[in-house]
Amino acid sequence: MATTNGDANTATSAQHSRLNSPVEPSANGPPFLTTRRFSTFAKETILPSFRRTIKGAVLPPGTKGYEESLLVYNGAIQPRPVVVVRPYDSEDVAQVVRICRRFGLTMSVKSGGATGYGISGQVVVDLAKTMNSVWVVTEGGDKPVVRFDGGCRVADIDEATCRRGFITPLATYQGVGAGSVLGGGLGYVGRKWGLSVDNLVEAEVVTADGKVLVANEKQNQDLFWALRGAGSNFGVVTSVVSRLHKQRTCYSGVVIYPMESVYAAKLILGRWSEAIGYGAREEMSTSAKLGCDVNGSPLVMLSFCYSGPEDDAKQLIHPFMSSLPYVPVMNSLRTRDYIQQQRNTTQYIPAAGYRYGIRGEHLTQLTPEVISFLAEAILHLPQDATRSVIDVVLLGGAITKVDEDATAWVHRKAAYEVTMIGTWEEEEQDVENKKWLDETLARLKQFSFGPPPNSQDVPAAEMATVAEKVYGSNLNRLRALKKKYDPTNFFRFNLNIEPEGGAVPDEEATEAILGAQVAEVFSPSSIEARPAQ
Ligand SMILES: Cc1cc2nc3c(=O)[nH]c(=O)nc-3n(C[C@H](O)[C@H](O)[C@H](O)COP(=O)(O)OP(=O)(O)OC[C@H]3O[C@@H](n4cnc5c(N)ncnc54)[C@H](O)[C@@H]3O)c2cc1C
Repeated sequence: MATTNGDANTATSAQHSRLNSPVEPSANGPPFLTTRRFSTFAKETILPSFRRTIKGAVLPPGTKGYEESLLVYNGAIQPRPVVVVRPYDSEDVAQVVRICRRFGLTMSVKSGGATGYGISGQVVVDLAKTMNSVWVVTEGGDKPVVRFDGGCRVADIDEATCRRGFITPLATYQGVGAGSVLGGGLGYVGRKWGLSVDNLVEAEVVTADGKVLVANEKQNQDLFWALRGAGSNFGVVTSVVSRLHKQRTCYSGVVIYPMESVYAAKLILGRWSEAIGYGAREEMSTSAKLGCDVNGSPLVMLSFCYSGPEDDAKQLIHPFMSSLPYVPVMNSLRTRDYIQQQRNTTQYIPAAGYRYGIRGEHLTQLTPEVISFLAEAILHLPQDATRSVIDVVLLGGAITKVDEDATAWVHRKAAYEVTMIGTWEEEEQDVENKKWLDETLARLKQFSFGPPPNSQDVPAAEMATVAEKVYGSNLNRLRALKKKYDPTNFFRFNLNIEPEGGAVPDEEATEAILGAQVAEVFSPSSIEARPAQ
């Protein structure tokens, strides 16, 4: 029998050859089917199986909602999966996993859509539209917590918790989703309250065998450990419980200086890192963005967020600002509601839909040499790429108080996270902009010691090497757990961890495809049959 992949695979393959797609097309679509037979198989067997057993929406190409579910931050990625499923609940998610495993289909999970990984499977599970509820529990339990669904965006969670005067630490950009929580979650209260993963109390997860598990410090502890930094490798997280901290306001805002030269950047960032560095009070979170204004003129934008009294913040920031021979073109520092700080930050980030590439690295020191070449990179951006930015975020504080092996997120001793976000408009500019990203990354790597799990768009060929750096000394334990929870590497559209000993073939799928009664397998009596859409 022929062993070519099906229609959907072929279409996806063409799209995935585009720049920025983090993953190569899957080589293991349904086995033993020719292209024509796969189309028939999808229409007559796969889709009816979903429709009969899923309570949420089943959206093949051409249906309302299919295209909408495939929109992600990076406008260059436009795959054509066989079907998008918007699950109603975790049992629906488990059923999708079982069907995909049975038919040998690849599956990916989308939440906020900040990456291309979430829409790279033959079946896309879009959690964002249907599993996005938030519950804030501040009374009755031991400590205040927030429970949120796996399809929530940072904005959904922030709005619900801040309204009640509480915070759970999340990413600064409110457009990202639960994927950011599972990969770390670094934001403007990180030095005070830790990363998102440091505040996780519990997660509900659908694992590769189609079971719904609860993971916390008492149940499935090994899974709970792995979820905190490598989460997307171990299942579909359908809900999360996170600790809340009482905080309504912060002293925050941006101070913007023109970046006339490399010298100016060196002076500003050099003094910034001396005055407000790794050892600074943990109430202070801060970052420096090197980028351009709307006219394309280079600038340095310093962001500050102090989770404490205004006077204390001023004592830190004002002497630093007075030491500079420059006058800021903008200073928005003041006490404000934390929710406003989060909303403001999101406004400074280019809207979704441009072509973009993102790579990050960790540093122990911000030396003049590093500042120089980062500034040079901004001064020599490709033409029309003035939305591109290099973001230098101070770590330390609460982040560093957690041991490297206490969670899967390993780089606890890093002092800075540097993220390069290349943003451009036209396909013809892909090569030039990718070159800019690659060259800047190559120089940065001479000084850095590993990237964060978030902030990555990794070409498949580099995945194993990058994973080694991302997970560092925790990689071996993660590979052993991957073998335990996902031996076939079913959850592969992410910053991928290869199971210890290599991924094993999915025997179950092969048998099912060959079996004559395959379409009849999926009608569990517990799930009400539904008419075809
Ligand atoms: C503009 C921009 C700003 C950013 N700012 C920050 C920041 O301030 N701080 C920070 O920490 N990171 C930041 N990031 C990085 C971001 O956190 C990661 O890209 C993260 O993976 C995005 O998650 P998502 O749900 O939005 O994306 P998606 O593309 O939907 O998902 C990303 C990955 O997580 C998996 N995933 C998503 N949801 C689930 C789930 N419920 N269960 C299992 N797996 C899941 C997906 O399969 C995929 O592998 C930023 C990214 C961008 C593009």
